[in-house]
Amino acid sequence: MANSRFEYVKSFEQPDVLLPNTWIVVRIDGRGFHKLSDHYAFKKPNDRRALDLMNAAAVEVMKELPDLCIAYGVSDEFSFVFHPNCQLFERRNGTTPSRKLVTTIVSTFTAHYIYKWSEYFPERPLLPPYLPSFDGRAVIYPNNRILRDYMSWRQVDCHINNLYNTTFWTMVLQGGMSNTDAEQELKGTVSADKNEILFKRFGINYNNELEIYKKGTVLYRQYELEEPNPTKSHADEETPVVESKQSRSQQDKIRKLRRKAQVVVDHVDIIKDEFWEKRPWILS
Ligand code: ATP
Ligand code: ATP
Ligand code: MG
Ligand code: MG
Ligand code: MG
Ligand code: MG
Repeated sequence: MANSRFEYVKSFEQPDVLLPNTWIVVRIDGRGFHKLSDHYAFKKPNDRRALDLMNAAAVEVMKELPDLCIAYGVSDEFSFVFHPNCQLFERRNGTTPSRKLVTTIVSTFTAHYIYKWSEYFPERPLLPPYLPSFDGRAVIYPNNRILRDYMSWRQVDCHINNLYNTTFWTMVLQGGMSNTDAEQELKGTVSADKNEILFKRFGINYNNELEIYKKGTVLYRQYELEEPNPTKSHADEETPVVESKQSRSQQDKIRKLRRKAQVVVDHVDIIKDEFWEKRPWILS
């Protein structure tokens, strides 16, 4: 590019570099989806098609960015996890600007979400001003333990919200209560109380609700065989990941495997060790 007397304005751009050799999580969240879900008549508390659309868009993001090793989604949010060896936007030189990762994920996800909308909601075409958009943020986590705690945090959140929403909407839709009355009655209740309301009053056993609603959605790549009977833990839980453990050619090989691998859509517990022990390649 030719130099000009205007070029000095470039120096106003501040760096926002992410630490190298760390897990990066980009979490996106739908903007104003409470209103958007009303407008397009999402089923309460859980619209299956809306979740399937979120998951389908996230699978496309995984396919486009092989540096992503796992993703977790619930409601209108998705967390995308970049491996510490991620090379995207020249992270090796310590120059991954957070905003580049975040804006790429957000816009790629939004593009697919809108592109696929009519497949999932054929009878409700998207019309301005109700167009879906997403915000996003990047956070770094220094070791496997903290990354797993992050994933657990999101899944616990899914469980707590889903139990509340399921009870609330059952009281309103089946019990004929007003929103305020149901809200009032649920104030200060614990999980056991909600389970009891569902079971005693409505004959609903919360355990029989769909896994996708109770556990959310985890996406990962299937490029190694699962270990049938996990005994030993492969995850090096406490020590930070050291990039130099893998040679450049090893990393290239893994990247190639990731690119070609099938992306699995699952609704399982990711809090306990079992999920990770059965699939040691996800965090390695
Ligand atoms: P913000 O812009 O601050 O994120 P928001 O309205 O999107 O505001 P959230 O806390 O993100 O608020 O909550 C998302 C809301 O979208 C849920 O409370 C729910 O009402 C609705 N929603 C999202 N996904 C679904 C779904 N699959 N089925 C039914 N409702 C959904
Ligand atoms: P990066 O992902 O790094 O931004 P890039 O390929 O998008 O890579 P840019 O420097 O952003 O590179 O340049 C955008 C390129 O897109 C231009 O060089 C040009 O080839 C093409 N392009 C963009 N807009 C137009 C247009 N209106 N007509 C023709 N070509 C265009
Ligand atoms: Mg938000
Ligand atoms: Mg939202
Ligand atoms: Mg949300
Ligand atoms: Mg460009």
